[in-house]
Amino acid sequence: MRDPALRWALVTGASRGLGRAIARTLAASGLHVVANYKSGELHARTLVEEITAANGSAEAIAFDVGDATACTGAADDLLARLGTPYALINNAGITRDGLMVFMPPGDWADVLRTNLDSFFYVTKPFLKAMLLARAGRIVNIASTAGQVGSAGQVNYAAAKAGLIGATLSLAKEIAKRGITVNAVAPGFIDSDMTKDLPKAQILPAIPAGRFGTPDEVAGLVRFLLSDEASYITGQVLGVNGGLA
Ligand code: NAP
Repeated sequence: MRDPALRWALVTGASRGLGRAIARTLAASGLHVVANYKSGELHARTLVEEITAANGSAEAIAFDVGDATACTGAADDLLARLGTPYALINNAGITRDGLMVFMPPGDWADVLRTNLDSFFYVTKPFLKAMLLARAGRIVNIASTAGQVGSAGQVNYAAAKAGLIGATLSLAKEIAKRGITVNAVAPGFIDSDMTKDLPKAQILPAIPAGRFGTPDEVAGLVRFLLSDEASYITGQVLGVNGGLA
């Protein structure tokens, strides 16, 4: 039997890195968290165990955010079981770095699909219900690369810049319905995505002199979901140690 008072959030790409920290933080703030992943089942299972052990509420769900049919199927199931979500955190993402002159078309397509098409595939099936509820939050995890560009990441920067454009536009479409839409643009954050980067070469360019932590991103997402952030929409908020 569905609990109509259940306040829940979907976090995509929650098995590792930023998404995992966001899921833990939102669960600690009292939301039921639906933690999406693609292949990291074990990681997702331990996340749910961690949250439950801390008296939070969470469940894991596998689907590929770059697969429109899979996203619609997952949304239908979640809407039927849990009702309308309070928040969608579009976090799942990948990189396939390389100079454009050498970039295989597949690396362009995979990155655009997983980082940008996914926003449409995941968000669209929930939108009508959220509009009817006249409340909700959408947070899209973009990147500094989408704001200022990044050599070797033409595909990734294009996807994140597109995500920022979509954020600004959807915010304008649905602000009157009480739903905020914002982008969070992290700089360099410690995670699997950045673990092989040449840190010694990068650090001098970061005014704060260090990479950020996933929890430092998660704290901003929690704030954007709070009542205090109800008038913040259509914004791109950097978490980058002064990089941009
Ligand atoms: P990460 O450590 O590589 O984790 C990526 C997460 O996304 C994993 O949970 C992975 O799930 C999931 N994922 C990947 N492809 C997916 C798909 N097709 N469907 C569903 N889930 C998928 O990356 P991260 O550093 O946490 O990055 C998270 C987000 O922050 C990304 O959008 C990234 O672009 C953005 N970002 C990161 C940084 C940074 O410095 N780390 C900076 C700026 C922006 P599996 O475990 O199942 O593979």
